[in-house]
Amino acid sequence: MLDILRRIVQEVNLANDLEQALNIIVQRVKSAIAVDVCSIFLLNEEDKEYVLMATDGLNAEAVGKVRMSDNVGLVSLVGKRAEAINIADAIKNPRYQHFPEASEEAFHGFLGVPIIHHRKVLGVLVIQSSKVQKFSEDDETFLITVAAQLAAAIVHAEASGGIDGLKQNKNEKDYKAKPINGLPGAPGVAMGIAVVMYPPADIDAIPDRHISDTEKEVKLFDIAVEAVVKDITGLSKRLKDVLPEEDRALFDVYLLMLNSQAISGITRDRIREGNWAPGALRQTIREHEQVFNEMEDSYLRERADDVRDLGRRILMHLQEDSPDKIEFPDNTVLVGEDISASMLAEVPRDKLAGVISVRGSRTSHVAILARAMSISAVMGATDLPVSRIDGRTIIADGYSGQIFISPSKKVTNEFQRLIDEEAALSDELMELRDLPAKTEDGIEISLLVNSGLLSDITPSLQSGAEGIGLYRTEFPFMERQTFPSEEEQRSIYRQVLESFHPRPVTLRTLDVGGDKALPYFPIEEDNPFLGWRGIRITLDHPEIFLVQVRAMVRASIGLNNLKILLPMISDINELTEALGLIHQVYGELLEEGEEVVMPEVGVMIEVPSAVYQAGSLARRVDFLSIGTNDLTQYLLAVDRNNARVASLYDSLHPAVIRAILQVVESARVHNKPVSVCGEMAGDPVAALLLLAMGIDSLSMSVSSLSRVKWVIRNITRERARQILSEILVIEDAAGIRNYLNQTFEDAGMGGLVRAGN
Ligand code: PEP
Ligand code: MG
Repeated sequence: MLDILRRIVQEVNLANDLEQALNIIVQRVKSAIAVDVCSIFLLNEEDKEYVLMATDGLNAEAVGKVRMSDNVGLVSLVGKRAEAINIADAIKNPRYQHFPEASEEAFHGFLGVPIIHHRKVLGVLVIQSSKVQKFSEDDETFLITVAAQLAAAIVHAEASGGIDGLKQNKNEKDYKAKPINGLPGAPGVAMGIAVVMYPPADIDAIPDRHISDTEKEVKLFDIAVEAVVKDITGLSKRLKDVLPEEDRALFDVYLLMLNSQAISGITRDRIREGNWAPGALRQTIREHEQVFNEMEDSYLRERADDVRDLGRRILMHLQEDSPDKIEFPDNTVLVGEDISASMLAEVPRDKLAGVISVRGSRTSHVAILARAMSISAVMGATDLPVSRIDGRTIIADGYSGQIFISPSKKVTNEFQRLIDEEAALSDELMELRDLPAKTEDGIEISLLVNSGLLSDITPSLQSGAEGIGLYRTEFPFMERQTFPSEEEQRSIYRQVLESFHPRPVTLRTLDVGGDKALPYFPIEEDNPFLGWRGIRITLDHPEIFLVQVRAMVRASIGLNNLKILLPMISDINELTEALGLIHQVYGELLEEGEEVVMPEVGVMIEVPSAVYQAGSLARRVDFLSIGTNDLTQYLLAVDRNNARVASLYDSLHPAVIRAILQVVESARVHNKPVSVCGEMAGDPVAALLLLAMGIDSLSMSVSSLSRVKWVIRNITRERARQILSEILVIEDAAGIRNYLNQTFEDAGMGGLVRAGN
């Protein structure tokens, strides 16, 4: 059964549109469990109707015509209860609704299971038998498993089908292009052209791309195939003395396959239809893989790997022969399975409007970078049909996480209006640049920026920030092939310290591990976020830590605006050791005759143990800085990068709010300032609560600064305190967020928390 299931899922994933996907499901399921009928009904949410979308067994003419409102009929009962219903004689059931056009009077046995994706019922999968009989438990569990596995594939196919607008067929009404839901990554709305980026030699990640000079493309393809033929012939010759003739016969099979109509011929046809060679190749290879995968014989099934291997070899040559120089159009929206910080850096800043990544979430580092660059981002867009959207018009709403592909005129106009309103709001907010972040009742809070790239220094300076509250030093480490030398580091830190002087700059010591890897320092762990990360690595490698601290302290000579911040402290001994090393550096530099000044040192509070020991930590350092990104992850046990649990990740969770209150209280006892430098600080509604709690400074992405300043300048601390006391009785994050959003709307500040003004 597992094999059958795997094959159905594979086939459905390859379907071109929803109709094809649903037909595959009903046909395969019907034959797998040898029943008389298999049908799929999908819920049309707008009309609140279950619509027959595909059937094998009922009258095919009924597809699109059988519609039942969501409170009559057995199918809708399955959907309503969100559980399977197994009945020996459906016709006798009082809930049964007869549809003459479906010719289902001959069928008695009925088993319906819900198709559920992200908690939402999408539709119902039904099997029927002519006999009066209850289906077996095995049938029931199989159908439930099929439905659970296929829900995502159905959403995917639905999204793909919707791309080219409404399909001209009888079900037109039910193919309405819906937005695809991702997660808000960075605020703002991007409207532009999708440019799909993918890692090299990954055939599944290749998008389709329209070309006009098809003959030139066919030539490129032929050259690549010729190169693979040469590689394989050479390989076969080299192995002549090692492998017996019959084993080398495999290479002959490869050569035959390469030159066959089935691979090369069909790919050429596809290119001539207008797809570029890598896209046409992907389609051919996946089609063949599927055919081999379906074979019962395990030897033949393994040939799927050979086809794939050939595909990869041709692709490598294609990519070598025509290094993929992407032309970035104006308003590029960068799209990919797993967009990395370096991919983002490849797009010229003036061309980049937004980014969409299938993996990751709001606190992934690529989203943090997007915010630093003031471009909108949608993360965790797991239902996005990436291979089919290159070159299409696309809208990414970084506030709601919604994505619209080839949007209608109406949607485009609506978003254009929101973008214009946003731009006007931004201009208005820019006017606040040189004004203090002071509440109406005269309370001032420092607003600082988070940084990590030399390129963000100029926008950070222009934003009116009072300093850098968090400089993530790992970014310059990531861009290199080896650890940077002391002098290289000193020079980078010096530029940052100099440009902000006399304002303070907080440089954080290296925080790699977790989701931040250095290409030249690989760490393989089962649980990287609970493993060797941040201060744990640098204390184990004092040679790296000492060089970094020396570079920092030397960079500040004559400026003296440096503060050092230690990440991931979970134990007092770690702090004691780190402080010992910093003092060692300071002493050595003094001995060397350098005119250094001991910088202020602070600790990040980003692990639950540090919350409970905030007092002990505060006593030993000059300041505390709360890293709400990790603190939320560790307090709620929700991976900050996992889209599947992203709905559980919210820094407004009551537990996080209470933890911050506790840290503020502990710091007060020792008279030490506290800042917040996680993404929460840049969330306008959260900033209001942090102000009320008495946080001394907020450090955020440059793009959030003016919004937060606007909030602070338009409220009194008294009012903020009152709101804080009101939300402290709310017991869940969603309740708190709704309450705060509503408070903002009521005060005419809705434009700060959603698109538009
Ligand atoms: C945090 O964890 O809140 C933080 C600011 O650090 P990073 O996002 O780099 O882990
Ligand atoms: Mg952190």
